[in-house]
Amino acid sequence: MNTKHSYQLQLNNVQNRIVAACEQADRDENSVQLIGASKTKPANMIRDFFDLGLTNFGENYLNEAIEKQKQLADLNITWHYIGQIQSNKTKLIANHFDWVHGVDRLKTAQRLNDQNSTEKSLNILIQINLDNEASKAGIPLNEALSLSKHINKLPNISLRGFMALPKSRENFAEQKACLVKLKHLLDDINQDLDINLDTISAGMSNDLEAAICAGTTMVRVGSDLFGART
Ligand SMILES: *Cc1c(COP(=O)(O)O)cnc(C)c1O
Repeated sequence: MNTKHSYQLQLNNVQNRIVAACEQADRDENSVQLIGASKTKPANMIRDFFDLGLTNFGENYLNEAIEKQKQLADLNITWHYIGQIQSNKTKLIANHFDWVHGVDRLKTAQRLNDQNSTEKSLNILIQINLDNEASKAGIPLNEALSLSKHINKLPNISLRGFMALPKSRENFAEQKACLVKLKHLLDDINQDLDINLDTISAGMSNDLEAAICAGTTMVRVGSDLFGART
């Protein structure tokens, strides 16, 4: 079996899981976007998956991402920054990505806003620390309203919703119960601020079904698409 053929099978497998979960949740299968979390994987693997129809890729490490973007500049990829944001790197992030998933401070949002010199408006997701883990970025749920209100006023970026990276749980019901908090948050904030946030980024290889049942709109899948990372 050649490599491209096994990539096709891996992509089909993840796409079929998304379709099945949408069916189970009574959702339109087009309401969930698949993002390939391609950290540590080479540019030519991204190119192969792009050829198979995957157009959205998420990267965690800035230098690695920029190097791969150079090699893939001929492809119309939508790039997501899904790593930790260092504030001295916001200019590079603003100018190399279409989406930034992990914003958790107004200062970071302001810098991304001020330093975005592209034509495009940068799409922003606020990271929520659902399990209040000290090791992870993100704000507690009860700070989301205030931060959303301030970020939403910035003219050169577009607040789109929320992202989370919850603790790994094995049990479907527990995964869903945790992730559904993001959906409630999105609905509450849309109502309170009279806005239309439309994106929830949550769900990875081991919890994408629960995330879809909980209302997520973007799943970030790495190992089940590209193989385990070493
Ligand atoms: C690596 C990564 C993923 C993908 O995780 P898998 O378990 O390999 O699917 C998703 N989101 C973020 C933020 C990541 O760093």
